[in-house]
Amino acid sequence: MVETMRRVIVPAVAVLVSLATAAPAAATPPQQATPAPASPQQKVPVAEGYGGAVATVDLDASKAAVAVLKKGGNAMDAAVAAGAVLGVTEPYSAGPGGGGFMVYYDAKKRQVHTIDGRETAPQAMTATSLEGIPFAEAVTSGLSAGVPGTVAQWDLALRTFGTLSLKQALRPAIDVAAKGFVVDQTFYDQTAQNADRFKDFTSTAKLYLPNGAPPPVGSVFRNPELAATYRELGERGPRWMYGGQLGKEVVATVKRPPITPGATRTVRPGLLEMRDLDRYRALRREPTRVDYRGMSVYGMAPPSSGGSTVGEALNILDALPEVGLHEYLEASKLAFADRNAYVGDLPGVPLKALLSDGFAKERACLIGDRAIPAPAAPGQPDGDYGPCATPTGKGTPPADEGPETTHLVVADRWGNMVAYNLTIESTGGNGIVVPGRGMLLNNELTDFTFGPAPGDPNLPAPGKRPRSSMAPTLVFDHGRPALALGSPGGSTIITTVLQIMVNRYEFGMSLPEALAAPRATQRNTAQTQAEQAFLDRYQAELTARGHELVLNPEIGAATALEFVDRDRVQAVAEPTRRGGGSALVVRPRR
Ligand code: GLU
Repeated sequence: MVETMRRVIVPAVAVLVSLATAAPAAATPPQQATPAPASPQQKVPVAEGYGGAVATVDLDASKAAVAVLKKGGNAMDAAVAAGAVLGVTEPYSAGPGGGGFMVYYDAKKRQVHTIDGRETAPQAMTATSLEGIPFAEAVTSGLSAGVPGTVAQWDLALRTFGTLSLKQALRPAIDVAAKGFVVDQTFYDQTAQNADRFKDFTSTAKLYLPNGAPPPVGSVFRNPELAATYRELGERGPRWMYGGQLGKEVVATVKRPPITPGATRTVRPGLLEMRDLDRYRALRREPTRVDYRGMSVYGMAPPSSGGSTVGEALNILDALPEVGLHEYLEASKLAFADRNAYVGDLPGVPLKALLSDGFAKERACLIGDRAIPAPAAPGQPDGDYGPCATPTGKGTPPADEGPETTHLVVADRWGNMVAYNLTIESTGGNGIVVPGRGMLLNNELTDFTFGPAPGDPNLPAPGKRPRSSMAPTLVFDHGRPALALGSPGGSTIITTVLQIMVNRYEFGMSLPEALAAPRATQRNTAQTQAEQAFLDRYQAELTARGHELVLNPEIGAATALEFVDRDRVQAVAEPTRRGGGSALVVRPRR
């Protein structure tokens, strides 16, 4: 029963726990933790072994990471190499025209670092630049393109923590782009979903709608222009983007999108200028940290709301005597109320207070037998915490956000770990390929609040980074690396990461079970979205407690890994969501 479930104390060591009837997700069919074959030609979602491990959504990307690890590269080298391959094989989710966040564990120094490669708004953008613009119109526009951060992030990541040069790290991706990859159903479907807007840009139609239609499943898709772009980036370095010819072409594309003659779509031009690219920097930031059930959980600080929102929700759960799905949904609801009120890329975010135990206790106190009406009001993270303060303000649900991006995890033989979220925002970004360069541009600036919304922390401003939900997460058990985790899915990223942690650490599922289990997402909205299998199992019980559940066919596409021993790692990807992912290890046996 949902409401009477007790916490199951689970060591941070992966064991298949038999939960009988106690935990609500016990009915989830467990995934078999079988080791990956030595050189698989098919994706497998679970692999366990030694010498390093990776999980991504894509076999080519996972293979690239393993190849780098086998040659002596470290986890950061492998993460960048795999990320660059995803720019080829998952071009609608990631690529050099986008941005992302990395959380990195340096095993030697025993330190956690993050790198913020989030896109920035142009200097010409103000709080009212997006006001009144229909969201759908902004999605496919030059206006929504921020300064791409990915290239600067790769460069900073490799220089600071890697051993490879950018040129070396891009090699596997150049290879895949030049030789091609086999089109799968997901690539086909994502192309088909985008066909209506891709056809409106000459460059995009030429690349992704050859012969006027999506490339068929099973065909080999090559992107020689992207291969050349990566090659030249490797030769010339990041300045080629942030002040050189590639940057000029990005700016020209954003300001004058290559609209197909006869297209009737309104395409708003962008505000980007070369000066915006010139001043772009990937940034190292302090990670967020919370202590949860005796473990330390590190995440991404603003401009992402991932670390603060996952962290606050975990703190709230930690303050409750019993945790079931009702409590999971309520903790998420309250944490989202605070996220929406306080978190953005601006000075003065009360991060410490949001992640404090006192605040969490005050918020946890609101959770009772019945669902709190949503949108719930934000709390007061002011350092003055009563036993049970009932906030009186007005809460807001999250604004529209696209549902796609991608996430990968890598660990190496030294125990370094990376959790890396990369994105171009919508599936297909802004839909505009830079002519001759084989890369789509992002529409990340749609993550800003469009307004009018006085006081909203996420209104656009010159140089500002839109608030993200990306939540690459690392967990340590008494200082030892335990877990790396993340997902795509816009604001459902936060709930997917949170639910997987709840499944793993509250309900005692194995990591493969925790990823496979059906999901629900409560983000301070009146209705809780849930996958069909979740509705089938839990709708009646949760409805009886005041939750209103509606269908969301698929939530998230997570990747994770867990140290099952000091040097044995289990890598886990989705078994079915988004076509399933690819987990690989360097060696199945010691
Ligand atoms: N733009 C989203 C964010 O930063 C990520 C892309 C997505 O998953 O929608 O939160």
